[in-house]
Amino acid sequence: MAGEKKKKSLGFSIMLASVIPVIILGVILTVYAQRSLREGMGYEVEQSLSGLAHSLISIYDLAYEGEFSYRDGKVMKGEAELTSDYDILDNFKRDTGADASICIGEKRCLTTIQDEQGRRIIGTNIPDSVREAVLEQGQEYFSKKISINGQNYYGYYVPIRNGEGQVTGISFAGKAVDAINRSVSSIIWRNVILCSIVILLASALCNALSHRIAVAIQSIKSFLDGLAKGDFSQEIPQNVMIRRDELAEIGEDAVIVSRSLENMVSRDPLTWLLNRRACMIQAGKRQSGEEYGVAMGDIDFFKKVNDQYGHEKGDEVLCYVAEVLQKSIDDGGFVSRWGGEEFLLVMEGKLSSLYDKLCRISDELEGKEFEHSGKRFQISMTFGVVAWNETETFETAINRADALLYFGKEHGRNQIVVQK
Ligand code: GH3
Ligand code: MG
Ligand code: MG
Repeated sequence: MAGEKKKKSLGFSIMLASVIPVIILGVILTVYAQRSLREGMGYEVEQSLSGLAHSLISIYDLAYEGEFSYRDGKVMKGEAELTSDYDILDNFKRDTGADASICIGEKRCLTTIQDEQGRRIIGTNIPDSVREAVLEQGQEYFSKKISINGQNYYGYYVPIRNGEGQVTGISFAGKAVDAINRSVSSIIWRNVILCSIVILLASALCNALSHRIAVAIQSIKSFLDGLAKGDFSQEIPQNVMIRRDELAEIGEDAVIVSRSLENMVSRDPLTWLLNRRACMIQAGKRQSGEEYGVAMGDIDFFKKVNDQYGHEKGDEVLCYVAEVLQKSIDDGGFVSRWGGEEFLLVMEGKLSSLYDKLCRISDELEGKEFEHSGKRFQISMTFGVVAWNETETFETAINRADALLYFGKEHGRNQIVVQK
């Protein structure tokens, strides 16, 4: 139909409501963790390169006395010539994985960095920013993007000072940005995969929990659907009742509502006996092949009770009669308030056993003295009794019992008229 709203599954909505936040949270945490990791790695690289650049100076100082200098085209440390002595630098690179350079003035004099042909890039100048910071201002300098020989480096520069404290050179330690990014990326990918697995597991857990909630709500819904169709025989499924949350309470409330409604529609509010509707339903549950006795009873001259002692007294009499009938029939059948002061009794078994029971009921009713404003009175009932089996409908049996009751009323009342 045009304009009709498309029905959505509750389970699907609950599942979305629980899984989507988990996925969003997971993605945000993953992205944030990756950014933090990159920043943390940058800091770690800076710290480690700083340590390496400082220790490079210490290593040379331990190996050779004196100061770095550049004399006659030779790289000197004190009186030792280092021009082609790369043992220290190459061991340093092998042990730490970092490239290293020693600059005298702004020229690279010793270095592990090589060009495409495998030649060390000695004699090249350091960048202007490094010269300004380290040589001119005497500060340490770190950059995440220093271009050396066409390649980007994380580089740390430490000033080398002479005996007077003047900056005469620079110790450099650096690592290629690509290499660091590769190791960071591999850590990040491992984290992304781990986070994805956690997100999937959390989503699956949320899905399973929300599915159970949706199933419980569905159970309550079908219980209420059945109730709306007048089915009072249903039970709330165990999956709802074993819960310990509000859904179980709703389930219990639904059962209470069902019981209350059942009583409201099937019981007479004054005597609490089955009403005519419930009586017909009960009769519909007859076992085939079984024989039943059906009796229609009516209180004699009941109008007089109301007239002489009042309506309330009349109600009291009705309640008493209902109690006696119910107690006498007990589990063997059922009693219904058919209307006004008329009662219908149905009992499994031979007609004679119902007759015997009615005799005892009549005796008990006649033996009861009611009292009102000092006046005492008694009541009696007339019954019409028939046998009922599957050869006729319940309505036909009732009509026959009613006819016998009428006959009894016509012929003196206070009697039990049994079919011939
Ligand atoms: P009979 O012996 O021929 O059955 O006479 P009767 O007076 O019992 O029958 P009648 O049909 O003349 O009167 C029935 C009375 O039952 C009339 C009505 O006011 C009364 N009655 C019906 N339902 C109730 C009820 O719920 N409470 C009370 N107090 N009286 C009721
Ligand atoms: Mg009557
Ligand atoms: Mg009547």
